Amino acid sequence: MPLTLSPQDNLPRIIRAAPIGICITNAQGLFEMVNPAYCDFYGYAEEELLGQHFTLVVPQAEQARLNELHDAFIRGEAEQEYRQEWEVCRKNGERRTVLAEASRLVDAQGEVKKVTYVVDITEQKTLQRRLAFLASHDELTGLFNRRAGMSRLDEEIRRSQRYATPLSVAIADLDHFKRINDRHGHAVGDEVLCETAELMRQGLRASDVLVRLGGEEFLVILPGVDRPRALEAIERLRRLIELTPMGHQGLALTLSAGVANWQAEETSHALLERADKALYRAKAEGRNLALVT
Ligand code: GH3
Ligand code: MG
Ligand code: MG
Repeated sequence: MPLTLSPQDNLPRIIRAAPIGICITNAQGLFEMVNPAYCDFYGYAEEELLGQHFTLVVPQAEQARLNELHDAFIRGEAEQEYRQEWEVCRKNGERRTVLAEASRLVDAQGEVKKVTYVVDITEQKTLQRRLAFLASHDELTGLFNRRAGMSRLDEEIRRSQRYATPLSVAIADLDHFKRINDRHGHAVGDEVLCETAELMRQGLRASDVLVRLGGEEFLVILPGVDRPRALEAIERLRRLIELTPMGHQGLALTLSAGVANWQAEETSHALLERADKALYRAKAEGRNLALVT
């Protein structure tokens, strides 16, 4: 029997069997057709959707905007072939991200409708956000990674060069951190690194930038901060680390740091080299020390 059906006759079946959600909304924005994939995705039965306004599946904050867009689309004012990502809302309240494509349809009576095709891209979006985060952040501590830190430092140097504002940096390194790993295990080492990062973040201002350069070494970028204030800020961090027991065993740790104030025309490389030298001296002078060049 199916062989005798014309493609025209098969159309409703194709729409019903389509693996992507398809709906038709009328000029008032009410659902006139929803296919099973559409219903499954949103968690509604067909009869719960038909006749309802499409904003039922749109988060409250977006409803007015999408409503206006729908009207403009029906009037033929909005872009008529579009592909867009939207945050939508399932019946159970769960938020998902969809890729929606729409096309305008004029039925036999001359009424304009909107056909929307939706594909769930929530997982891809989540992965995409995660990858974007990992490209610039350190997974363990959530701080900026070296690459992001270096590009941020270059940016701050350009800003300071242009506006003649002060800029300082510090390289901070935990003292005898290898011992923590050796005595208490790598997991405790990781715990200490996370707590150190959190403490440093708390001890800094919102405008300061904290970077994990690698291992137990951190870079602090202090935009707008001159040499004495930079040393003050890093000394405060050093004290904070010294006074705070870390990990579930309440371990005592210390930190050494080298601080350098940016000088006009200096490259980031030269600036970091000076900070590194100061750090080296702090280590040589017995650790638990912040020195400025
Ligand atoms: P110093 O006071 O001279 O800085 O001594 P240190 O022991 O802190 O320095 P060293 O460079 O000898 O050792 C750093 C250790 O950091 C060695 C490495 O195993 C550990 N480490 C690096 N990255 C990680 C990490 O992500 N997690 C953990 N648990 N340990 C790490
Ligand atoms: Mg160290
Ligand atoms: Mg180190």
